Amino acid sequence: MTTADFNALARILPEDRIVTAASQLESLSRDFYWYSPVLKRDLANKLAEVVARPRTVEEVRELIRFAYARRVPVTIRGAGTGNYGQCIPTHGGMVLDLASLDRIHEITPDGVAVCDPAARLGSIEQAARQVGWELRCYPSTFVKAGVAGFCAGGSGGIGSITWGGLRENGTVHALTILTMEAEPREIRLSGQDIFKVLHAWGTNGVIVQVELRLAPRTNWAQIAVAHPDFSASFDFTEAIARNESFKKRLATTFEWPIPSYFAPLQKWVPKDKALAFFEVADDQLQRLADAVANTGGEVCFVAPFTEPRRGPLLSDYTWNHTTLWALKADPSLTYLQCGFSPTEARSQFRKLKARYGADFLFHVEFTKWEGVVTPGAIPVVRYTNDEYLQDMIRFCGEIGVGVANPHVNFLEGSGRWRHDAAKLVAKQSYDPRGLLNPGKMRGFAASLEQVGDPAPLPVAA
Ligand SMILES: Cc1cc2nc3c(=O)[nH]c(=O)nc-3n(C[C@H](O)[C@H](O)[C@H](O)COP(=O)(O)OP(=O)(O)OC[C@H]3O[C@@H](n4cnc5c(N)ncnc54)[C@H](O)[C@@H]3O)c2cc1C
Repeated sequence: MTTADFNALARILPEDRIVTAASQLESLSRDFYWYSPVLKRDLANKLAEVVARPRTVEEVRELIRFAYARRVPVTIRGAGTGNYGQCIPTHGGMVLDLASLDRIHEITPDGVAVCDPAARLGSIEQAARQVGWELRCYPSTFVKAGVAGFCAGGSGGIGSITWGGLRENGTVHALTILTMEAEPREIRLSGQDIFKVLHAWGTNGVIVQVELRLAPRTNWAQIAVAHPDFSASFDFTEAIARNESFKKRLATTFEWPIPSYFAPLQKWVPKDKALAFFEVADDQLQRLADAVANTGGEVCFVAPFTEPRRGPLLSDYTWNHTTLWALKADPSLTYLQCGFSPTEARSQFRKLKARYGADFLFHVEFTKWEGVVTPGAIPVVRYTNDEYLQDMIRFCGEIGVGVANPHVNFLEGSGRWRHDAAKLVAKQSYDPRGLLNPGKMRGFAASLEQVGDPAPLPVAA
């Protein structure tokens, strides 16, 4: 950015909302990319030149006009809890920090939360519960994470065992975006159109409002069950996950020694055992505890789920928080994101164990994937070098285990790219100069090389 660029920016926002101090630039250019040793190395020196902190949609619009006119790259930031360097600016320029746009506008009588982009999921959950609703699914970072960051960067979480991923069942009711053009257009996307920007990492529009469908409120309870080995724990967890008569939000199982990484829980975690965590309707707690009998398992923790929270929740140790606890215990560990087969998972586990032993530790999150209860997994794996990690990813593919690779920093490589090119086509229309999170949608860079910048492109098939 040039001095003229900075002068132009100073005409839009007051000085205290334009960040140029080195230490702040560094922290606001980062997310949890360091979970991946590959990204930790490759993205270490990527920094914004400035961070702009708008407080209103009108200011966002003004900042877009500025960036478009002066060809300044823009990386949008919510709470910065993403895992894949999604909001790390790889081409310098401006970080658009939307944290101040955090209002919940309305919970409609039919259960839709209408929110600013950086409204925290934890706050939405709290507001929704007060009027008889709750989030359908949320990431384990929900206390801090913003709703638009979840839509643009996340995929699902607690609740996905019932409601599927964020992209399913119309959970994202509508997204309103501003385009990156000389005169930004405001477009409300609903129905199938949401897939143009859902999980697009902020590459093709600035989400300024999210409408999220909610679920009727349930009073939840938490319970942990230990089994002598992972096989028994998996069988039990799968049986509960598949049993539709249990109302549930969480069905998770961990191979030992993963439970040993949960430092604050060690007072009740039994040594050398596999562990399963559940959130079920509180009036079904006893039924679940009864189901443990005759499976060789033992109930080792029970607690009500209080909202607002008082004390830690079991879900603070699930989803990608599991990886965080593992990394704290042993920095040579990292993770993968896998989809095991609903019918062949046991044989896939055996093959992985035979090849990698203790370097591949099972952490399974049951989710409903397109209506089918599926053992999703975030295994904790040992990193020794890139080749070994690649071998794990390749071998998973060979034995039919899907991998959404969390060690790449571009959309097409991350395993959640839709092959209908909806996001690419949207970017061609909404961000013709390729200024939004440049480098993260590689197909767009390639398409620009073919036709030159910023000519509009023909609509891809
Ligand atoms: C410990 C840990 C546990 C996690 N668990 C889960 C989990 O269970 N499930 C899950 O899905 N994810 C999980 N994540 C990832 C992440 O926390 C969530 O996806 C979260 O919802 C991201 O929200 P955020 O506000 O922090 O987004 P950010 O990290 O700020 O941004 C994420 C992406 O969205 C883009 N973006 C942000 N705001 C906008 C906007 N207004 N318009 C357009 N693009 C935007 C950014 O540019 C970036 O590409 C986890 C991460 C950690 C570190």
